[in-house]
Amino acid sequence: MNVYSRSLSRLIDELSRLPGIGRKTAQRLAFYILDMSLDDVVNLSNAILEAKNNLRYCKKCYNFTDSELCSICGDDTRDTHTICVVSDPKDVVAMEKTREYRGLYHVLHGAISPMDGIGPEDIKIKELLERIKDAGINEIILATNPDIEGEATAMYIAKLIKPFGIKVTRIAHGVPVGGDLEYTDSVTLSRALEGRREM
Ligand SMILES: [Zn+2]
Repeated sequence: MNVYSRSLSRLIDELSRLPGIGRKTAQRLAFYILDMSLDDVVNLSNAILEAKNNLRYCKKCYNFTDSELCSICGDDTRDTHTICVVSDPKDVVAMEKTREYRGLYHVLHGAISPMDGIGPEDIKIKELLERIKDAGINEIILATNPDIEGEATAMYIAKLIKPFGIKVTRIAHGVPVGGDLEYTDSVTLSRALEGRREM
């Protein structure tokens, strides 16, 4: 017998589908939401809908944005001669938290993983090559995760970029091997960026 009413069950089911939310946490969140004022609940659900409806890829770097260009590509104080290549939009947030990096980004939206059937054509590599054809890029920093997929992706991209005569660097292994950029603290990430080596 289900102890929850149908609506409450549904809310708990939906919340527990989110990453990192187990059944217990989903129950706690569901009861918390029920205690919120109607206004706050409407704000929360509108924020989710608005983000989903309005967010799209920046036409330059493929980070999420509300407008045509993201705030980083649209910022004319950034160094437009350097591109830091990351796998995920969350990695841009991690890099920005270091406050060390002032260049632009390119978000691949994944990494090459033959095991999962993800090939080079499934992530934004072609788009990166298109971008660097426009002259003026001095350095490409490969900041994919230091796991098997991230390393394979970095090697693959480095090989493609070499013929362009652009300096290609890989962030140092301050980031734990097999680790995730997004969970790396800012100090470690800053050091990994400083210690990057030419490929
Ligand atoms: Zn952008």
